[in-house]
Amino acid sequence: MLPDQLKQLIDKISDWPNLGPRSAARLALYLARKPQTELEELAELIKSIKQSTKLCRQCFNLTNQDLCEICRDPKRDQTVICVVEDSLDILPLEKTKRFFGLYHVLGGTISPPDGIGPEKLNIQALINRIKASPQPVAEIIIATNPTVEGDMTTLYLEKVLQPLVPKITRLGRGLSSNSDLQYADEATLADAILGRR
Ligand SMILES: [Zn+2]
Repeated sequence: MLPDQLKQLIDKISDWPNLGPRSAARLALYLARKPQTELEELAELIKSIKQSTKLCRQCFNLTNQDLCEICRDPKRDQTVICVVEDSLDILPLEKTKRFFGLYHVLGGTISPPDGIGPEKLNIQALINRIKASPQPVAEIIIATNPTVEGDMTTLYLEKVLQPLVPKITRLGRGLSSNSDLQYADEATLADAILGRR
């Protein structure tokens, strides 16, 4: 019933995270009703996103430069590194204005059913970073999400980082289990940072 192009678009969008075929169809139809100029702007933006977005060479945060804004900031505490699963987890932590150290983005969590072992994450890069740090790293805060995979990743990190840093902490558990950092409210997250153990 649908034009071929529209069907192809729905197929493409169905591959995006957290979108089933129904939401994909809804999005595609929404796009189909947009004015041509708006769609062209969007297409241009999508085409340029790869060239204009890269990963920070130190922390793997998204940036348009070699080092991200946080790693470049001389006022940040270089001796504390907060380890997060995803670049998007940095935003809510920054909003709390309670953390002044640096970050390290793992790029996911350990998940054996999905074939994701530690070697697929930026863990060796973290180990190298700690060893090469100009100022010795005094604390690693592990801020993975409170899920089975997040906990598994935390246990692994604790094991491999123990010999390298004097203090490893986790965010305080004001965070309810299975709630992602990205959805936690600021006050809860601020408490979680201050209450880290
Ligand atoms: Zn960075």
